[in-house]
Order: sequence, then structure tokens, then C-alpha cells
Amino acid sequence: MKKMEQLTLTPISSLEPKIVEDLRSRLSGQLLLPGDLAYESSRKIWNGMIDRHPALIIKAATTDDVVLGVNLARNHNLILAVKGGGHNVSGNAVCNDGLLIDLSLMKEIKVDGRSKTAVVQMGATWGDFDKVAQEQGLATTGGIISTTGVAGLTLGGGVGWLVRKHGMSCDNLLEAEVVTADGRIVSASLNENPDLFWGLRGGGGNFGVVTKMKFQLHEVGTVIGGMILHPRENAKDMIRFYREFMKKAPNELTLYSVLLTSPDGHPVNALLGCYTGDLAKGESVIKELREFGTPLADMMQPMPYTAMQSLIEAGFPAGNRYYWKSGFLQDLSDTAIDVIVDNANKCPSPFTATVLEMYGGVANEEPKGGTAFLYRDNLFDLVIIGNWVDKKDDQINIAWIRNFWQEIQPHFSNKVYVNVLGVEGQDRVKEAYGSNYEKLVALKSKFDPGNLFRMNQNIQPSSIYNN
Ligand SMILES: Cc1cc2nc3c(=O)[nH]c(=O)nc-3n(C[C@H](O)[C@H](O)[C@H](O)COP(=O)(O)OP(=O)(O)OC[C@H]3O[C@@H](n4cnc5c(N)ncnc54)[C@H](O)[C@@H]3O)c2cc1C
Repeated sequence: MKKMEQLTLTPISSLEPKIVEDLRSRLSGQLLLPGDLAYESSRKIWNGMIDRHPALIIKAATTDDVVLGVNLARNHNLILAVKGGGHNVSGNAVCNDGLLIDLSLMKEIKVDGRSKTAVVQMGATWGDFDKVAQEQGLATTGGIISTTGVAGLTLGGGVGWLVRKHGMSCDNLLEAEVVTADGRIVSASLNENPDLFWGLRGGGGNFGVVTKMKFQLHEVGTVIGGMILHPRENAKDMIRFYREFMKKAPNELTLYSVLLTSPDGHPVNALLGCYTGDLAKGESVIKELREFGTPLADMMQPMPYTAMQSLIEAGFPAGNRYYWKSGFLQDLSDTAIDVIVDNANKCPSPFTATVLEMYGGVANEEPKGGTAFLYRDNLFDLVIIGNWVDKKDDQINIAWIRNFWQEIQPHFSNKVYVNVLGVEGQDRVKEAYGSNYEKLVALKSKFDPGNLFRMNQNIQPSSIYNN
């Protein structure tokens, strides 16, 4: 039996004030302490269930600020958290006590239209990035909520409306600048530190603080997107239709099936998707979706890509209480569909959504150099997005999700997308990295033998893992 890591960390209160003041004088960005005006907004993340108080926050403005933070944490054995967009449901972007490096000031985005590439600093969100890239008619695969961070999403893989046409976000990563645990600034690409580059493409924030990423972009113009809403009574038929449709869907179309509650309080189900490419061809593909059943509403229409990228975000506001369970299903049999719909019909919160996603297309092809992201088979990914407002409703919502999760287990593949994992224990972390886990442990042992970067879906270095 492998031993779990023992945390032996120094309380930050034992830091001499002189060390803190010296740090402040050397930073280009800000040093925030509890009580400072900007401290509260900096420590907050998207999931309102997470309420942590770092002892110190570095709001980094430069890569050198990040180096100062990494060196401070390592030299004084402090718990260290790194916040990109702060969207991860687990809350790993923020710690109690310890040091938080908040990257939100680092948002520079430079797009080169000729090479169709972009260099993006890691405080940028997908909304920031898409806006600048779309000025030149370009985009790369990114998350479907514009407030999500480019950093965390890409480091875990990255799926979105372009995934079937252009691969995962991490497949489009060309180069990264990384501050490693020993405080060095290194570059990772197919040519430099290729092992680290492999690990950054799906291994999460385990290997260092990434300060910049260079991406491949693609021409993306007006898309056809939106949703077609059906009454909940037809949900099982609709999901069966979705399952069969995805067997022949072109790569230009990424389509999800969502069980949700309409704004006027009716349980409904939706086909939610985006077609990128020739609009006339797109219309002919979407015609089949429009003709299924008798929709309550058909809101699929041409729109700018940036509109598509923020279409559903009002449903997932920052500060609500979120608890998720997720995993790839080994089958989407009729029995699995029954379990999914029957459980969704008992959902206690009108804000919760039960989503089935299917990637595939170009995302099935591992790019040159390979990626730590593993799951490139055409499995349906079930994401139960528990979402409610009031703390007093925690128990009923969490109990519903856990029960749902239990009942779907016979259909679960033991594979999970790392970016949608909560704090669910080391066995589930291993489900995320799968057969790459041992290789990732070796890489972790090389780049972070002391496990400085542990506030993540943690790959334990061999000093811990093998003891
Ligand atoms: C509403 C919502 C919608 C989502 N939609 C999608 C989607 O469409 N597609 C998809 O693939 N995923 C999606 N996700 C999941 C998303 O990919 C993860 O939550 C991701 O971690 C968010 O990135 P972030 O930078 O905002 O995360 P954060 O919470 O800031 O960080 C997540 C993890 O990455 C680490 N990290 C962050 N920045 C860095 C860095 N620069 N260097 C090293 N480590 C770092 C953090 O320490 C933490 O462990 C969604 C999540 C939410 C909440």
C-alpha cells in the first residue's frame, strides 16, 4: 500500500517581517496581506464553496515576481497555491495560510496573424484571449465559459466548441515558459525540455508555474451555434438520438446533450452545440438536429464565435456553490440513459445541469510529441454540475449528486478528465492520469522532487509515492 503524503509545512507566521518587507520591495506586482483592500477579491475563486485565506498573496506582474514567490515558498517550506483563472471546482487555486501566487495581472496577449500563433500570459481568461484572436479572425480550442482561465484549462487538456475540428487546447500548445520548483525559468516545447512539454499537455500544474503559452491558431469566423430545447418527457429519446448522431457527426460540429431547468422553471433537455466551417454545409448538418422530435424552442443560429463562447455563462455565475462528479462512461446504453435521466428528474436545484459531452474528431489524434492527456477514445463524458445558491442546501444537493454517481457506477469506465475532478482522493487522481501515471511520477521527481506544487490533482514524486 502506497503511503499518502505527510504535510510538514512551516506556518507562515514564523516568517520574519523583514523577509516579507524585502519581498514587497522586490516585486513589480503587489504583495497582499489579510486586511488589504485587494486581498478579498484576490483570494476569491469561482466556486463559492471554497473560502480560504492565504497568509500572503503575490499578485504577480512579471515572471520574475513568480520566481520570487516560488523561491520564498521553497526556501521557507510554505504551502503554495497558484491561481490562473480560479475556475477549478476543486478549489486548488487557493490555500489556507501559505502563499498564493495570483496571476490575474498577467494578461498580455500577442497574436501574430501571419504565423497564426498567439503568445498568452497566464492570467488571461478565454474571454480575453478569444476577443484579441478574433480581431484577426482566429481562435484555438478553449473552454465554453469565457471566464475560465487559459492556464488551468490547457494544462489539464482543454476541450470546447472547436475540439473536434482543431484538437484539444493542449494539442495546440507550441511552447510554454515555466518557473520550475528550483526557481529557474525554462522553456518547454518539442525542441526544448520535450519531456516537460509532454507533461504540461495534460499533467496539470504539477511541474511548475507556467507564465506564458504559445498557441497555434486557426481561422474561425461566424459559427452556427446555440441550443435546441426539448421537453424533459422526451429526454431518453433525445439522448438516444444524440448517441447515434455523434457516430456520424462531422468534425466541424461539437455537440453536447444537457439536462437542465429552463429560466421559467421547467425541466428540459437541450442539444447544445457549435458548427465551425462553411455555413451552408453547417445548416444541412444541423437540419437533422432541428428535425428531431418536436422542440420547445430552436435557438441555433449563426453568431460570432465570441458570442458562442459566452452563450451559457449566465447559468454558471461566480460565487454560487458548486459540487461536481464526472467520468467517461464505458457505454451510453439505454440502461445508462435511464439512470441518467431518472436521476436528473430528481435534481433538487434548478441551477444544476447534467451534461453529456463527446469529443473525438481531431481530438482522437495525439499530436507530435504526445501528450500527458490520455483519453482520446470516443467515450461520452458525463459531468454532473451541481450548482445552487444557499449554504443550507449543501447537504441535499451533495447527497443527490453522490447517489446519482453511485447509480451510474456500473457504466463508468474508470477514466476521468482531470480538469473536472473535485477533491476526490488519490485513486481518482490516478483515474485521471491512467496508464501515464508512472511516467508522470518520473517527470514530477525530476522537476519537483519536493512536491512544492501540490495544490493540484497531485502527481506524487517518487520520494513520496514509493515510500
Ligand atoms: C464553469 C466552468 C466551465 C468549464 N468549462 C470547461 C470547458 O469547456 N472545457 C474544459 O476543458 N474545461 C472546462 N472547465 C474546467 C476547467 O478546465 C478547469 O476548471 C481549469 O482548471 C480552469 O482553469 P483556471 O486557470 O481557471 O483554473 P484555476 O482554478 O486557477 O487552476 C486550476 C489548477 O491549475 C493550476 N494552475 C493554474 N494556473 C497555473 C499556472 N499558470 N501554472 C501552473 N499551474 C496553474 C492551479 O494551481 C490549480 O491546481 C470548466 C470549469 C468551469 C468551472
